[in-house]
Amino acid sequence: MVVAAHPDDIEFGCAGTVAKWVRCGCHVVYVLVTSGNIGTHDVNHTRDTLAEVREREQLAAAAVCGVHDVEFLRYNDGEVMPTLELCKDIVRMIRKHKPEVVFTMDPTMLWSGNEYINHPDHRAVGLATLDAIAPVASMPLMYPELGEAHRVREVWIQWPQQPDTWIDISETIEVKMEALRQHKSQVSEETVQGIRQWALEAGKGLAPAEAYKVMILVAREARASGPAAQEVTG
Ligand SMILES: [Zn+2]
Repeated sequence: MVVAAHPDDIEFGCAGTVAKWVRCGCHVVYVLVTSGNIGTHDVNHTRDTLAEVREREQLAAAAVCGVHDVEFLRYNDGEVMPTLELCKDIVRMIRKHKPEVVFTMDPTMLWSGNEYINHPDHRAVGLATLDAIAPVASMPLMYPELGEAHRVREVWIQWPQQPDTWIDISETIEVKMEALRQHKSQVSEETVQGIRQWALEAGKGLAPAEAYKVMILVAREARASGPAAQEVTG
C-alpha cells in the first residue's frame, strides 16, 4: 500500500519500485489523502472540477504501473493535518487492504537543500500514516469498528532525509516516466524527462534508483532453503 498526499506524489516517488514489484506479482493499493483540488492557476476550475481531473489522471498513472486499486480520502489539498481523524481513516484503509508493506512520505522533512520547503501535507500524511501503522492498526481494542487489527510488516519512506535502501529501477524507469506523464494538468514533458536524471542521482550514478528509509517491524520470513533460512529460524 502506498499512502500519499497528492496525485503525482507517488509518480515522483516510488512508482518505479511499485511497477517493478507489480511485475514480480505484488498487489498494490494506492491511498490518496487529497485529490489535489487547489493545485491550479486556471480560474475556470472549481475545487470539484479540478479534483475530478486529478483523480482521473491519478487512475491513469496507477494503471500504467499495473495498479488498479486506488482509494481517495478526499481531504482538501493544502489543509491536511496529522489529526486523529486522518489517522483513523488510514487505519481503516490498512485494516481493509491488509498490506504487508506500506510506503509513505517522510514526516521529518521540513526542507531539502536550499531551495525546497517540504509541503506540509506531505509531512502530515507521513506522520498520520506512521501513527496509524504503529500501534493503532495492530491493536484490536483500538477502534474495532474500523476493521480487524492488522500488523504491517515493513514501512518504506519515500524521498527520505536519510536513505538506507536503494531500489534499482533500470527496468521500470520508462514506466515511471509514462506514469508521471499522465498528470497532464500538472507536469510538463521537461519535468518528465528530468526524472531520469533525478533517478540517476538517487542511484549515485550507478543506475536509475529510488531511495528509501526502510523500517522492518516484523522480521522477514526465512526463505524455504539456504543458509539464511537456518540462520533466521535457528
Ligand atoms: Zn505533493
